Amino acid sequence: MNSAVDKKHTPPAEAVDNTDIIETAIIGAGFGGIGLAIRMQQQGLQDFLIFEKADDVGGVWRDNIYPGAACDVPSHLYSFSFEPNPDWGRRFSPQQEIYSYLQYCTRKHNLKDKLCYGHELNSMRFDEERGLWIIEFTEGRRQLARSVVMAIGALNIPQYPNIKGLQDFKGRLMHTAEWDAEFKPNGKRIAVIGTGASAIQAIPELQKTADSLAVFQRTPPWVMPKFDKKIKPSEARRFRRFPFLQRLSRGVQYSIAESVVLGFLWDSFLTRIFEKVGRSHLRKVIKDPVLREKLTPSYSMGCKRVLLSDDYYPALQKPNVSLIDSGISHIDETGVVDANGQHHELDAIVLATGFKVPVAGSPMPVYGMAGRNLNDDWAEGSEAYKGMTVSGYPNMLYMMGPNTGPGNTSVIYYIESQIHYALKYLKRLRRQPEHYLDLRKDVQRRFNDDLQAKMEGTTWTSGCNSWYLTPSGKNTTLWPSFSWRYRLMTKKFTFADYYAFKVEPDQLETSDEQVLAS
Ligand code: NAP
Repeated sequence: MNSAVDKKHTPPAEAVDNTDIIETAIIGAGFGGIGLAIRMQQQGLQDFLIFEKADDVGGVWRDNIYPGAACDVPSHLYSFSFEPNPDWGRRFSPQQEIYSYLQYCTRKHNLKDKLCYGHELNSMRFDEERGLWIIEFTEGRRQLARSVVMAIGALNIPQYPNIKGLQDFKGRLMHTAEWDAEFKPNGKRIAVIGTGASAIQAIPELQKTADSLAVFQRTPPWVMPKFDKKIKPSEARRFRRFPFLQRLSRGVQYSIAESVVLGFLWDSFLTRIFEKVGRSHLRKVIKDPVLREKLTPSYSMGCKRVLLSDDYYPALQKPNVSLIDSGISHIDETGVVDANGQHHELDAIVLATGFKVPVAGSPMPVYGMAGRNLNDDWAEGSEAYKGMTVSGYPNMLYMMGPNTGPGNTSVIYYIESQIHYALKYLKRLRRQPEHYLDLRKDVQRRFNDDLQAKMEGTTWTSGCNSWYLTPSGKNTTLWPSFSWRYRLMTKKFTFADYYAFKVEPDQLETSDEQVLAS
């Protein structure tokens, strides 16, 4: 093993285009990458760099700037427990506030020198002889690292719909995740395709100034009231003065979110009760029975993400808005032709059609031991151990990897659980600098068999189409239980779950049965 792994590495950002070896490369500077970096620094694990494709931190909260972009998880819960922010302006923060929060965390914890912007991951290969990851970035840059943490997020590759004639449209065409800040909706004839989480936030904002807004709905979502409101300055002052009150508030929000698991996750009598509440909300807000009928979902609540909004239903009833649920026939140079043959003349089309979520395969080539390719290994659906490590890909950890998404609570809670596990793993590696750790196949198998068995009876497999599932219906995205169970599981790092390979060429031929270290 090259002794350079242990040396302290303090690179200027432009000096990364080299083959110096660092201990840990973190890929991505969103919540996962930044949170882990803060905790690593705090615990004295200094030898790491964060590689980020863009020119700032923030991940999805940097990229999603469509009008109305906000979080549907309460602010005090959608933030790091170790970096509470008493100054959230709303119960549910808008995009800009969360983005600023991540920038603030980066500044406060002096991560500037650790960040290498403009580094988009192209491929990674594990060099078994040296026990190192060779990380290639686009534009041919390269970095050697002993361990890699993939904090690349799952919702960052826009999904363009396969609609005939989409490219023929001569007006403005924008995906919500690639919003042009210069675009002014004022007085324009706009269509929004899709009615998911992004759409229901953008529609009420676009409606305010658009000349007309045509909403193309394929499947109606379940929408519950959000009860969003401004947080009073007195509340912020109280939280600053008595931090335990903020922790208490976070705890209450966590408990409320956790309690809905019983109905959102398992298709049960509680799901039917939640559906009744959803339908009664619909009845209360939507007065027109025809519109109400169009908006009534015909699948179990929870099967797709349950949406929270106070202004989506009211916006749909404004005179400049129409809801089209007949389907789209095609798009031409001047607009959308619906399945009834009606042509909708448009200045702009907004694609709120979601993301290419890596339910199967890997978004970029990752080559592990013995020429293994993650894309092949995950062809039938991605899987990992505790959502973080994958057999055959040593010294590699995922943040928000397979089956670690929440359907009901804050993703930050899961990220913090993963940070905990990652720290234990990375510390262990540092204690054994001449070894690398590969997850045992049988451990991964057992974990995933058990996990998939738990998917039976969930709302997610109750019969709707969603980005949670592979084409064959396997859920590779969500965690099928309470989040505290995930927390308990990630608190524990069991060394025996891994094979420890010594970095010496003759040792690398050792079969799985011969564990080289206890
Ligand atoms: P999404 O939930 O996948 O919704 C995509 C929408 O586009 C759906 O209504 C879908 O209809 C429709 N669609 C897709 N292809 C279509 C086509 N060819 N023709 C017509 N309609 C089509 O995407 P998203 O709204 O961007 O949200 C994705 C995820 O991002 C969410 O589930 C959530 O996890 C996250 N998110 C979170 C927040 C937040 O507040 N925390 C906000 C935004 C997004 P079908 O339902 O029929 O497929």
